[in-house]
Amino acid sequence: MTIHDLTVISAVDGSALPKKPFTGRHLIDGQWRDSLDGATFVRRSPAHGTLVSVSAKGGSEDVEAAVAAARRRFDDGRWPFSSGKKRASLLTRVADLIDRERERIALVETLESGKPISQARAEIEGAADLWRYAAALARTVHGDSHNSLGQDILGFVLKEPVGVVSIITPWNFPFLIVSQKLPFALAAGCTAVIKPSELTPSTTVILGELLLEAGLPDGVVNIVLGYGEPVGAGLTTHADVDMVSFTGSTGVGKSIAASAAATLKKVSLELGGKNPQVVFPDADLDSAIDAIVFGVYFNAGECCNSGSRIIVHKDIAQEVVERVVALSKKVPFGDPLHPETRVGAIISPEHCRKIDGYVKSAASGGAAIHLGGGELAVPGLSGQFYQPTVVSDVTGDMAIAREEVFGPVLSVLTFDTPDEALGLANASSYGLSAGVWSENVHTCLEFARKVKAGTVWTNTWMDGFAELPFGGFRESGQGRELGRYGLEEFLEVKTLQMRLGQSRELWLNSR
Ligand code: NDP
Repeated sequence: MTIHDLTVISAVDGSALPKKPFTGRHLIDGQWRDSLDGATFVRRSPAHGTLVSVSAKGGSEDVEAAVAAARRRFDDGRWPFSSGKKRASLLTRVADLIDRERERIALVETLESGKPISQARAEIEGAADLWRYAAALARTVHGDSHNSLGQDILGFVLKEPVGVVSIITPWNFPFLIVSQKLPFALAAGCTAVIKPSELTPSTTVILGELLLEAGLPDGVVNIVLGYGEPVGAGLTTHADVDMVSFTGSTGVGKSIAASAAATLKKVSLELGGKNPQVVFPDADLDSAIDAIVFGVYFNAGECCNSGSRIIVHKDIAQEVVERVVALSKKVPFGDPLHPETRVGAIISPEHCRKIDGYVKSAASGGAAIHLGGGELAVPGLSGQFYQPTVVSDVTGDMAIAREEVFGPVLSVLTFDTPDEALGLANASSYGLSAGVWSENVHTCLEFARKVKAGTVWTNTWMDGFAELPFGGFRESGQGRELGRYGLEEFLEVKTLQMRLGQSRELWLNSR
């Protein structure tokens, strides 16, 4: 159905909605537990308004118990010293179970996050692939040896698991992001305590069920449900935690780095982005415009990799804006449970108001709104949605050009020269990803080498592979996930020097 020129999918029949809510409990030392004080919190579907889950609300005693279990299991040595072969076969079993449970996980993910069901299914499949990739890596953990240090000495560089890892995840890709971290930590031989976002806790609980079914020893992975304070904060300050692996906002990431510094924990941070795509006049516009539309509306723009900022050459700016607006109107927004929906609900009413605030502030600063610019009413649904929105005449000093809007809102800036384009692209405190569109390989390469971003796409956007590392420059984070680098994050280096025989020259000749 088309409303106000946009493509809006009304509520489908509610038969997929759960008859009773999912119940989430903490997983501590292989046991499912309520909070010690019995506290719970609930999550309603951001699209449908219906109750989706009731979860145990963790407190500091639950954090204490979970960290103690992870610490014990690490220190008893059975998991960290188990063979790569054993860890690999366990991770592969988990991948198979994820495939088996794809529909159940995807439905819960959709109902808690508001993302389209077709996208949720693809993310669960992608997550299973990450577990398989990490399984393959588990058998490749090895260090180095040095046999040219002299006749009587051998040197070894051992790679050992870091220890107990706190894994803290956001609400936008709950199952995928925990799968970018946990299987790599397990492949390395670490033990873990996970805290999912309080907005999307349930698929991490399902993962816990699958880990137990796959035969993971008790206490190797623990899950504490609840809020950033006290659960997340407790996991970043506890003296028995060796490393924090966090994905979320730059603000919380900075506070985690500061609190983890007190015990000098290793910290890996995957944070926000304000990702530019530069479009040169010789670009293949059919491809670029489709990718721009995909890049800004995917996951309703609630995506660290959102291509929320395009920088277009002045000669083609008008054509690009017109074509982006025309294509935006064809993107199906609406009920996430409909198989054809491409953009679902916004995670919370507060977040919807925040998105709108950015758009209104840009408009009052002189930007032009070509499409959207307000909440979207979806017939039959009580949740919150935001219209596909295209804003031009954006200048570098506007908040919409510099900050993460995290909504389906595209900002258009223009340039004359390649240097100007690069300057605009780099005029951000973030550095997660960037893109360039041109049929000239030299133009693409020059931009790719000079832009400050952890990932650069040329003539494409947001492709991802388990083999390729992902992470940010500057305030987009530190450390890398995926690829071999994703495993290395969870490994510590130990140097072992062995002298052979009685050859050591005495320091004091006391005879
Ligand atoms: P937040 O930073 O608000 O929260 C992330 C997680 O941290 C949640 O589980 C949250 O708990 C927890 N948390 C909050 N406060 C603390 C604290 N003081 N100590 C420890 N943990 C805490 O991010 P969002 O959930 O809002 O996610 C959106 C953000 O994530 C965006 O900025 C986005 O760019 C970024 N992101 C980055 C990705 C990347 O790979 N670079 C990928 C995906 C998202 P709770 O909310 O339950 O209270």
